[in-house]
Amino acid sequence: DWINFTDFFNKIIDRFEMTKSGHVSFIRNIPNDALYVDIDTDKITQVLDNIISNALKYSPEGGKVTFTIDILPSELQIRVKDEGVGIPQESVNKIFDRFYRVDKARTRKLGGTGLGLAIAKEMVFAHGGDIWALSKEGQGTTVYFTLPYDPEQEDEWE
Ligand code: ATP
Ligand code: MG
Repeated sequence: DWINFTDFFNKIIDRFEMTKSGHVSFIRNIPNDALYVDIDTDKITQVLDNIISNALKYSPEGGKVTFTIDILPSELQIRVKDEGVGIPQESVNKIFDRFYRVDKARTRKLGGTGLGLAIAKEMVFAHGGDIWALSKEGQGTTVYFTLPYDPEQEDEWE
């Protein structure tokens, strides 16, 4: 479906903002303009739900979660940054593998199956995008993904 990604992303963040506990704050770096993309909204909702719930799950008291959309020449780059526990360098690429969880002891008490990001990767790839993460242990994690975007498209909507 062709949808306005700005609205779509804001609505997902609103839903988390209404249900999250008070200990984390949200920051949005999201353009005001409509950004039309052709996506399966159910699937990209699942991608964002998992990335955002991870960010919340691994955030400390008072942590900030920052949401960003960058408009690149042929894609939108979406980022979710947290100030959580972070991921060791040698594991940061493995978190997209099925059932991979960084620290069994640490993550066991937080729950989950280790499938969320593997499913997210599959769905982003099916849209012709890419997904990756950068992280510093003890400082936080940023998960990035891209979706194909044609800036010319906007003209036709005006
Ligand atoms: P599920 O999503 O199936 O409920 P999960 O959250 O453990 O379980 P993934 O979302 O696939 O699984 O994440 C895989 C692992 O990557 C997590 O178990 C965790 O160790 C690590 N991880 C993911 N996101 C973050 C993050 N924002 N900060 C720190 N570690 C993370
Ligand atoms: Mg998860």
